[in-house]
Amino acid sequence: MLGFKKDLNNAIPDSYCQNIYQINFNKLKEKQIDTILFDVDNTLTYVDDINIPVETINLIDDLKKQNFKILLLSNNHEPRVKPISKALNIPMIYEANKPRTKSYIKALQMLNSKKENTVAIGDQILTDIIGAKRYGIKAILVDQLSNENNIKTGIAHKLQNHIVKKLSQKHLFKQGKYYQ
Ligand SMILES: [Mg+2]
Repeated sequence: MLGFKKDLNNAIPDSYCQNIYQINFNKLKEKQIDTILFDVDNTLTYVDDINIPVETINLIDDLKKQNFKILLLSNNHEPRVKPISKALNIPMIYEANKPRTKSYIKALQMLNSKKENTVAIGDQILTDIIGAKRYGIKAILVDQLSNENNIKTGIAHKLQNHIVKKLSQKHLFKQGKYYQ
């Protein structure tokens, strides 16, 4: 966490929404966004649940119809991410090592997309948001789909809650608004 202070600006998402279903994708289209990098666990799916919520399946179908280019960008392992990638029929990068930027570079190469036309969506400030902002793409924070605490994310979540509280106090979040 030593380098975190340097990353404070990168910790601020461009937008915050309660979940992926609340995001105004038409507005993103208007802002010339054509590419979406989705985090998987707790963003598209409940953590450790092999079933994909029907709302997520419908949303992804919808986004494909709107010609968004979509990719799953997950720090989780292949056995977790691959079945979801197959079921949704969208490409993936697993073990993405967010917030490191290498996988973002690879993702945009795979999709033949540009930074300025890309948004990343995820539930974790320390990985999803900081990674995207470091690389220079827009980022939308969503609440976790699940509130279950597990050992892997417990401490990170306490820290995230702390950061969100601090940023909220400074009025750096404008809920649901897309701003820069
Ligand atoms: Mg997640």
